[in-house]
Amino acid sequence: MSLLITNGRIITATDDYVADIYCDQGEVVAIGRNLPSHRFQADRTLDASGQYVLPGGIDVHTHLDMPFGGTTSTDDFETGTIAAAFGGTTCLVDFAIQYRGQTMRHALDEWMKKAAGKAVTDYSFHMIVTELPDAGLGDMDTMVRDEGVTSFKLFMAYPGVFMVDDATIFRALRRTGENGGIVCMHAENGGVIDLLVQEALRKGHKAPKYHALTRPPRAEGEATGRAIALAEMAGVPIYIVHLSSADALQKVREARDMGLPAYAETCPQYLFLSYDNYEEAGFEGAKYVMSPPLRAKETQDQLWRGLAFNDLQAISTDHCPFCMKEQKTLGKDDFSKIPNGAPGIETRMSLVYDGGVRAGRISLNRFVELTSTSPAKIFGLFPRKGTIAPGSDADIVIFDPEKRMTLGVKTLHMNVDYNPYEGREVTGVTDTVISRGQVVIDAGRFTGRAGAGSFLRRSTR
Ligand SMILES: [Zn+2]
Repeated sequence: MSLLITNGRIITATDDYVADIYCDQGEVVAIGRNLPSHRFQADRTLDASGQYVLPGGIDVHTHLDMPFGGTTSTDDFETGTIAAAFGGTTCLVDFAIQYRGQTMRHALDEWMKKAAGKAVTDYSFHMIVTELPDAGLGDMDTMVRDEGVTSFKLFMAYPGVFMVDDATIFRALRRTGENGGIVCMHAENGGVIDLLVQEALRKGHKAPKYHALTRPPRAEGEATGRAIALAEMAGVPIYIVHLSSADALQKVREARDMGLPAYAETCPQYLFLSYDNYEEAGFEGAKYVMSPPLRAKETQDQLWRGLAFNDLQAISTDHCPFCMKEQKTLGKDDFSKIPNGAPGIETRMSLVYDGGVRAGRISLNRFVELTSTSPAKIFGLFPRKGTIAPGSDADIVIFDPEKRMTLGVKTLHMNVDYNPYEGREVTGVTDTVISRGQVVIDAGRFTGRAGAGSFLRRSTR
């Protein structure tokens, strides 16, 4: 199917102009003013007058259909990619988990099965590594070379589940120096946190807020600094996931000022929510139990400055929804048993546009860079994804900058029974979404197809 998008204001990470876009066979073919109709005959024309035309959002941190804490995140690859599309995100990088005793190949096969036939838009996987025997090093090479899985996530937290020691981290980092991959780090000091959690429970501190009080910002700052130091010793880049605290931001800023290739993402929850949410009445605080936890409200300004000045390079969601009913309640009498995670895949673009661009904290170009272009570049998807240019995939969002919307369970499509932003009004809403040249959201109505999304093999650094 060929598609012509006319008169939209095209915004990329670097450009801002009004033109028409002609797409055919899933790609952008031509961009120009008044494209001659005899050469660019389209099956369908979309008038984007007065609207922004953006590269589809890219969310490089999601957990769809993921087992965790004795339950499973509630969005699968169908509901999750549909919700993402409604919110203006057309490409996800989710996580396959290599559990101890299993190979990375097995993990990738398992997650490919979860996504196949379900994903509405394109997706890829990072590989979570929970152990690294000698054979695992070869596994890493195979992932990068043969499968296009060019990033690996390691955990400095969750002892006994995901946590690996410094030697394992160092081995993984060094290997990426040889095979061209990159390590993503969950940077929190798991040993210290575990001790604080046990101490709190012994004192009878069981409420959700103790999740935050036992995971102090310093525990994130320490681990972030250590991760960067290990990467420096290994001579490789590193990417810190879901950075939430001023302590951790300072470590990344210092590293970058020294010229080290340290990268980091933050997430909307750290920009729009805060520790105060844990103080909500009753068990409501469980809605916000995620790791790292929400921080003091003052941190938000510092993170915005980090985004504006490129100490932070991406905004992802860490979307990992669990229902209040029956899932979050697993921790009714013990905060440490509340499944960690919250929904966000659908609300990212509107929140960041409204609270970032409209509030004057970041520019329109920077908005596109943080939500699409820069993650595409860091994770080997650019220029196929992350921009609007001839030859790029026709993943395009027509965004109405003046439309208002009230966020909440009723207006959103994520498969979860609450929303952390319930009742919040935003200005700037996704109107129409094109994935590889197919309209998947048509003026706010879903028109896509489960299974239409493809697995993306990513390139190396
Ligand atoms: Zn995560």
